[in-house]
Amino acid sequence: MALMAAIIYALASLFMGICAGLTFPRNYPLNEVTLLDSRSVQGELAWVASPTEGGWEEVSIMDEKNIPIRTYQVCNVMEASQNNWLRTHWIQRGPAQRVYIEIKFTLRDCNSLPGVIGTCKETFNLYYLESDSDNERFLHESRFAKIDTVAADESFTQVDIGDRIMKLNTEVRDVGVLSRAGFYLAFQDVGACIALVSVRVFYKKCPLAVRNLAQFPDTVTGADTSSLVEVRGSCVNHSEEQEVPKMYCGSDGEWLVPIGNCLCNPGYEERNEQCQVCKVGYYRSLSSDDGCRRCPLNSYSMKEGATSCDCDKGYYRSETDPASMPCTRPPSAPRSLISNVNETSVLLEWSPPLSTGGRQDLTYNVVCKRCARDGQRCVPCGEDVHYLPQRLSLRSTRVSVHQLQAHTNYTFQIWAVNGVSKQNPGPEQAVSVTLATNQAAPSTVMSVESKDITRHTLTLFWQEPEKPNGVILEYEVKYYEKDQNERSYRIVKTTSRKADIKDLTPLTSYVFHVRARTAAGYGEFSAPFEFSTNTVASRVVGVMSSAVLLLLVASCVVVLLLIFIIAFIITKRRSRYGKTKQAEEKRLQPGVRIYVDPFTYEDPNQAIREFAKEINTSSIKIEKVIGIGEFGEVCSGRLKLPGKREICVAIKTLKAGFTEQQRLDFLSEASVVGQFDHPNIIHLEGVVTKCKPVMIITEYMENGSLDMFLRKNDGRFTVIQLVGVLRGVASGMKYLSDMSYVHRDLAARNILVNSNLVCKVSDFGMSRVLEDEPEGAYTTRGGKIPIRWTAPEAITYRKFTSASDVWSYGVVMWEVMSYGERPYWDMSNQDVIKAIEEGYRLPPPMECPLALHQLMLECWMRERADRPKFSQIVNMLDKLIRNPATLKRIAGDTSRPHPSTLHHAPSGSPAPSLGSAEEWLKVIGLKQYRDNFSAAGHCGLESVIQINQDVCPQWKGNDPVNIIFQRIVCLGRFSAFSTETNRTFGASVFVL
Ligand code: AMP
Repeated sequence: MALMAAIIYALASLFMGICAGLTFPRNYPLNEVTLLDSRSVQGELAWVASPTEGGWEEVSIMDEKNIPIRTYQVCNVMEASQNNWLRTHWIQRGPAQRVYIEIKFTLRDCNSLPGVIGTCKETFNLYYLESDSDNERFLHESRFAKIDTVAADESFTQVDIGDRIMKLNTEVRDVGVLSRAGFYLAFQDVGACIALVSVRVFYKKCPLAVRNLAQFPDTVTGADTSSLVEVRGSCVNHSEEQEVPKMYCGSDGEWLVPIGNCLCNPGYEERNEQCQVCKVGYYRSLSSDDGCRRCPLNSYSMKEGATSCDCDKGYYRSETDPASMPCTRPPSAPRSLISNVNETSVLLEWSPPLSTGGRQDLTYNVVCKRCARDGQRCVPCGEDVHYLPQRLSLRSTRVSVHQLQAHTNYTFQIWAVNGVSKQNPGPEQAVSVTLATNQAAPSTVMSVESKDITRHTLTLFWQEPEKPNGVILEYEVKYYEKDQNERSYRIVKTTSRKADIKDLTPLTSYVFHVRARTAAGYGEFSAPFEFSTNTVASRVVGVMSSAVLLLLVASCVVVLLLIFIIAFIITKRRSRYGKTKQAEEKRLQPGVRIYVDPFTYEDPNQAIREFAKEINTSSIKIEKVIGIGEFGEVCSGRLKLPGKREICVAIKTLKAGFTEQQRLDFLSEASVVGQFDHPNIIHLEGVVTKCKPVMIITEYMENGSLDMFLRKNDGRFTVIQLVGVLRGVASGMKYLSDMSYVHRDLAARNILVNSNLVCKVSDFGMSRVLEDEPEGAYTTRGGKIPIRWTAPEAITYRKFTSASDVWSYGVVMWEVMSYGERPYWDMSNQDVIKAIEEGYRLPPPMECPLALHQLMLECWMRERADRPKFSQIVNMLDKLIRNPATLKRIAGDTSRPHPSTLHHAPSGSPAPSLGSAEEWLKVIGLKQYRDNFSAAGHCGLESVIQINQDVCPQWKGNDPVNIIFQRIVCLGRFSAFSTETNRTFGASVFVL
């Protein structure tokens, strides 16, 4: 009776608890769609119970807001063999393939119910049955499939009821893939005291979202817990697709990896994930990336949605002016024009205009007009007038004008011109000056010819000078015998353009010069023309004397010959130099490429273009999120390049909102990996940089990182398989060191494993500065370093070399042979540094061949020159693989091969002798655990050493310190010792 009373009290108090304080949120998360909620059912739930009497019972209670809640309870804790079933009504599945069942319940623990031991249970079972329609009248227990056994756990809500605390548990289970139209749920009680307070069935969806101005509809998640559903977005109103917008709906109802985007149309701007129209007085042009802008100076927009602003009256915009530029005006006229005439040349100078019209593109044009004496009738000057530096688009405020006609009136206009002058040209933009040129002598006679040559006479004739500069009054011919002194010449004058020369000596060569005379005086004599009297004139076509011409031709031939010879010599030398240089390069790097640090490029984008291929996003299909990198999600997917077969790839994405520096840091990994080509180095397929998100595509490594892979497969591989793994990593590292590349962060977590168990070195990104390194710790010199993997000289003075990579490789060997154990367990970084400094080294992992541990110790030599090279490591591992017998000797079976191992006690520190367990605990500062040891029957240290050989059978060595150390490690696995204790143990032993 007392027991019954307790049970009744238990249930009653539960419901009182609900009435007293429980509230149920009716607002479901946005990414959940509820199919059934027992709390929102009006009236009876009327689920099917079996047996109909004495099993589950429907009970109506009120919550604190006086809203009735329907619950089910059962509490047959006294009777054995309970089998009470409760089945919901048929629940339609809708579009869901996976559904979630959230059960809120209270469960009395059997200890609180006296006298029920043996019959009382603390769990119930959850089942489901798929069916296309609501056709199950009865409960066919055998047809239901079990989802799970549900027990109360720690995640309960506490409710105070008087002197009792009730615990409301919430458990969620999921089931899928569902294929029928609906299903039933069933709850099986096997003798517990339960109240089902509420049952909610829901499925998950990614709720309607807008990203990058593309709208993505409500999307039901995939059937699988890791599957992604690809969804194409549609651009919001007043926007257009710039690049196909896509997103992936993850299984937990979250949207992932937004790709592509839309852009607001001109006249609209992005605000609150919508495209909003630009207000009056504002505009947004096609080219601008930002929002609506106020109309620039001297412009206006009268309507909403303007794509540009109109110019105020009198203001203009040139065709090339951007919409953001103020409207401008033509300039005013240049000022203070002065002219300076020198015979037939004029120098014009002026000052810039008072107004440039608001523009920077001011230039000047010169207009020249030749006018009649009255200054009225003017004509353009024509082509033969020369301007220095030029006539149009002058930037300077001066110009000299040459080859004007002498004694002539001219008018010059200087126009100030800018980009909008054409739109409103006007005389107010020019300044002018009128002037007259002075008298000037005629220019030279250019061509003299001869005819009618006799023994004593010849006739010369010529063209008028190009610039007579007035009326030619007369010509003067000066001539002399070629072999005579020039000073004994004769003169003949004539008014026509011909002269008969008489009284010449037969068979003699003569030199002739001709000049013209106007009112302004004589012009210059012409160049010499040579003719002979003995025969037909030795006239060399026209213009100059044959001697001069001959001289010219000869010099041209000589120059050409010289050019040819010089060119020949240079080409010869070049080809010889080219060959020498190539040979030199080859000598320096016989057959080996050297790594180029992308950060040495002035423009890091250039390095990316050089070492990584750009891939079009249409070739990539993202399938799953497989990890989170420092810069964004890492996904798996497929890559189909034109003409190549489809392959699986890993896709690293750069999350939105990155800075240019972050983008370059992210892509630096690609420019590093892109330089490598080795079967044990992760292979780069390419990059996506031209659209967002920026991605790095590499080959897909199905088994993920080596440390996790080993932990998952603890003890499953043969020693030869593990040595194969190590050989692969060493071979990849040999390739890197041959290329003079230092990794700096070699660790099992940075090695990836593919489906053929091939290991590849990865993580070449920011690992150089290690900002993203989870193991990175700041050293006293700044910078982050993964202490446990790093050689002492690299920690102390940042001396990173291939030899420090060899040290890390030794640690990777240890990680591999211990199946992903954490190096130095949970000792602090400081203790690790201290222990290494004092000469301690990691002990051989369980079942580790002696030869491998010996190799690890060599990698951990203090002097970096004493460590093996990667090429030697590869050779050593090859030898071991060829002679598996050498791997039979297990380390720990013999005494240590090298003094600097863990069992080495630094000089001055006494090695502990085997005494009592109590003494030993005192020495290592853990006296407080004395009772634990004696309670377990361990009084002598020998007995400690024997602790649980079954749990830690690997510790068979006979070196006391090592044994104790290993014991501590082993003890760390006992639940009796907290992690805290274990850490202290480890650290203490290291400093023994
Ligand atoms: P990371 O940014 O390189 O550290 O990558 C984050 C996580 O993504 C890693 O821990 C791996 O689990 C996973 N991952 C990266 N690259 C690949 C790949 N090529 N194949 C498979 N998984 C990868």
